[in-house]
Amino acid sequence: MMQLGVFGNPVEHSRSPEIHQAFAAQVNLEIDYQKILVPLGEFNKIADGFFAQGGLGFNITVPFKSEAFDYCSHHSKEAELAGAVNTVIKNDNGFIEGHNTDGLGLVKDITKNLQWILKNKRILILGAGGAVQGIIGSLLLERPTHIHIYNRTLSKAKALVDSFSSEKVLAIEENQLESDYDVIISGTSAGLDGNAGDSLPAYIVGASTRAYDLIYSTRPTPFLRWAQNSGASECVDGLGMLVEQAAFAFEIWTNKQVVTSDVIKNLRDC
Ligand code: NAP
Repeated sequence: MMQLGVFGNPVEHSRSPEIHQAFAAQVNLEIDYQKILVPLGEFNKIADGFFAQGGLGFNITVPFKSEAFDYCSHHSKEAELAGAVNTVIKNDNGFIEGHNTDGLGLVKDITKNLQWILKNKRILILGAGGAVQGIIGSLLLERPTHIHIYNRTLSKAKALVDSFSSEKVLAIEENQLESDYDVIISGTSAGLDGNAGDSLPAYIVGASTRAYDLIYSTRPTPFLRWAQNSGASECVDGLGMLVEQAAFAFEIWTNKQVVTSDVIKNLRDC
């Protein structure tokens, strides 16, 4: 049986096992997919042990995506661009390959599931952490007019933008925020409590602005509540991205493509 898993700390909250089991059932495959709690500083040891016991590959969640990048000897172009890895596979030659499917998953959810168009659109991203780094490359391939990065700590936004040699990606300060962005993506880890709009002017949202929060939750996130109250036309959380990035990972391990719509719906209903 294919041995798979998700490495994280914490990891108990992860919905990846149920997603991958649903994919496996769809293609009549038996998999063993475990949540693996990795003590801080022990990523390499746990990963070595996983492969020594016949593991095929694993996903990585917070806070190990950079360590996973360093662990891999080969990287996909998305992983190279992000400097982070969320999917690892030991390939047939014994090399450890690192992939990053977060950006692919987000763009698939936005353009295929939600049918939002990104070409020639003005995008604002809030936050400048690992998740944002992982999505910019895929968003750029959709040829938006520009991507503004607005972060609480400007220096981090600037460092992030410097790692992409594209004049379309700009780190901005509050007085450079534009009105009526086409798409606003929140990639902060501000969490589910508090008021996300405290530091955001309402004019950045117009009647045709669409808002997407990378966080997924059973209730609207503070950012999505704020966007809704500010007049956004659609407000969506990151559950679709979670399932789509998992589908890309599943294909890397199994060479099988899966249909995601029912999986997203079932998770939404639980
Ligand atoms: P991270 O590397 O720790 O970065 C966090 C970012 O949020 C930083 O830019 C930080 O700003 C900002 N931030 C934190 N608290 C804030 C606050 N109170 N107000 C404003 N900004 C704040 O985290 P990450 O790995 O990028 O993850 C970000 C989020 O994406 C997480 O909630 C994660 O669950 C989600 N995510 C979802 C998926 C999915 O499949 N749906 C995939 C990956 C990640 P500073 O730079 O100023 O510290």
